[in-house]
Amino acid sequence: MTVFDPTEHPHRRFNPLTQEWVIVSAQRLKRPWLGKVETPARVDLPKHDPKCYLCPGNERSNGTQNPNYEDTYVFKNDFPVLLSGPPAPAEADNDLFVSSGLDGVCRVACFSGRHDLTLAEMDPEGIEKVIDMWIDQINELSQTYKWVQVFENKGAMMGCSNPHPHCQIWGQNNLPTQALREDQSQRAYMEKHGSPLLVDYANKESANGDRTIFENYDWIVVVPYWASWPYELMLLPKRHISHLNEISGAEKKNLATIMSQLLICYDNLFETSFPYSAGFHGMPFSGGNQSHWQLHAHFYPPLLRSATVKKFMVGYEMLGEIQRDLTAEQAADKLRSLPTVHYLQK
Ligand code: ZN
Repeated sequence: MTVFDPTEHPHRRFNPLTQEWVIVSAQRLKRPWLGKVETPARVDLPKHDPKCYLCPGNERSNGTQNPNYEDTYVFKNDFPVLLSGPPAPAEADNDLFVSSGLDGVCRVACFSGRHDLTLAEMDPEGIEKVIDMWIDQINELSQTYKWVQVFENKGAMMGCSNPHPHCQIWGQNNLPTQALREDQSQRAYMEKHGSPLLVDYANKESANGDRTIFENYDWIVVVPYWASWPYELMLLPKRHISHLNEISGAEKKNLATIMSQLLICYDNLFETSFPYSAGFHGMPFSGGNQSHWQLHAHFYPPLLRSATVKKFMVGYEMLGEIQRDLTAEQAADKLRSLPTVHYLQK
């Protein structure tokens, strides 16, 4: 009888956070990709762009002038998705046409006054200032909102039109869908096993090493066993921490270092400014026992084979189940083999 080989035999893997299955069919990649790897011509950006609404000193469309900031700068989104205190729809009296009220805030946060930098090109000291800004925002917004989401949408491929390094920070009065799923999954795991799901997971990944890309005293970066996107990553603390505003000074330093390593690795994969959507998930601020929650960050990049070839989540993914062509272990091998110096600094 043939022995199961994850690189030869199609199988499914279970994502314990979302409770969804992923099809892994690595036999489709019988040989390494030998096709042309296209690197788009590098666009040299100015340090300051007079037309950028995020650059220091520039005027935004609502007439506000940005201060002459150097490091980080946070402001309320001029065209927010969430509004503070709008009237709520009437409560549904049926199961088919159900809506709920939505109260929240959307902020934009710049990582640097420099228009031409990305987090990957900033040094760990600069990234530390960004982490400080995230912590301040979480401390403030958690006073009002149950869920605080820090996220970055990077690159035109992800629908981000402005290259100025920035992220968004949203506060919401209820848990969004992903947060609710992760909350339920982590709570159920804690009830069954008596320890947090992602603390157990980080420990097991650290001991195993097959999917580990970077690891230091406080943090670990892995291609999750159940990854959907080809080069999806998860960043996890090794001790139990429920949100970013609980980390120590030493943990912050090590977080900045490992984030820098991770982002350089991403840029080096296809020698391009690597697009992704990424963000931190931490405990909801809705009170009660949240000990099942473990802080973590998800990195979801769309690229598959080169700077221009992306994975499409279409067809069977939309109608059946997500499918990937390389195993999480193969993706980890590839990412681990890359140089640690940013390709633009070679
Ligand atoms: Zn999560």
